[in-house]
Amino acid sequence: MKICDILSANQPTLSFEVFPPKKADDFEKIEAATNAIAELKPDFMSVTYGAGGSTSKFTAEIASNIEARGVTALAHLTCVNATKESLDAQIKDLKNRSIENILALRGDLPAGVESTEDWVYKHASELLPVIQADGDFCIGGACYPEVHPEAVNSAQDIENLKKKVDAGCKFLTTQMFFDNELFYNFLYKIRSAGINEPVVAGIMPVTNAKQMAKIHDLSQAYLPHKFVRLLDRFGGSPEAMKSAGIAYATEQIIDLVASGVNNIHIYTMNKPSTAAAIQHNLAGIIPSCEGK
Ligand code: FAD
Repeated sequence: MKICDILSANQPTLSFEVFPPKKADDFEKIEAATNAIAELKPDFMSVTYGAGGSTSKFTAEIASNIEARGVTALAHLTCVNATKESLDAQIKDLKNRSIENILALRGDLPAGVESTEDWVYKHASELLPVIQADGDFCIGGACYPEVHPEAVNSAQDIENLKKKVDAGCKFLTTQMFFDNELFYNFLYKIRSAGINEPVVAGIMPVTNAKQMAKIHDLSQAYLPHKFVRLLDRFGGSPEAMKSAGIAYATEQIIDLVASGVNNIHIYTMNKPSTAAAIQHNLAGIIPSCEGK
């Protein structure tokens, strides 16, 4: 099924992100975790892609497993260091596996690289025509409520986001954020700029204090005092941190849905118990969480 159709149904949805293994030795373990998450029957699931292609074949394989469990899959694809031939091969593989949805991304700059000048595809918007020429996919893209780190300012970042949407991006998924007010402000700005596509809010349940430093490095998300207090108080106890992290994410989601934000995406970190707990907490609020 196309994600564009799922999102246009105008009712709250809950979807999950998983990541593929980095090396073949870990495939079975990660396959088991992602299959267990698919058994929770969310509205759809996304599978990340190792920029540069290191985990590319695993992305397609895990996405196929998800579809085989009756859940719509969204395969991420990056154009960092890609050629037309390498992209065509990836897209053909997805098409052969009947994957209908692609999240078109540029990918992060590899360590030591400061500019995309030498690349064939410099921005995610340049990847869209390649995907469009290769098949009938529903294509999404990323967006950054707290501004992409390479953008000079919010206005410039939103101008660039508009180019991606004008190139055919049918929905947007946000970078994680921990302060809903920043997201509401972003939503107001992009709507004012004429970006009207559905925006799926990316929520990270932080269930492990150690993972927080890495997450923060990657996302540079603002951490509200309330969240920092929680980390300080419960970070030393894995059990308490898991409960508190899931409760914080649940509260964020309930506020989002109450404010009219229908589409929520959970960064599950491949943890079936975290995904299941969030679903359970949202029974009665999001239809696909009913009875979970
Ligand atoms: P772009 O949309 O190309 O934007 C990157 C920068 O270029 C921004 O500063 C933007 O303002 C600017 N820009 C964009 N278009 C133009 C233009 N036409 N002219 C001038 N400037 C422009 N990374 C992975 O490697 N694998 C994944 O699976 C993955 N999944 C992700 C999922 C989500 C939901 C998010 C939010 C991020 C994900 N990332 C992933 C990280 C992502 O690759 C990085 O954040 C990367 O730095 C930017 O990718 P992008 O597609 O947003 O790039």
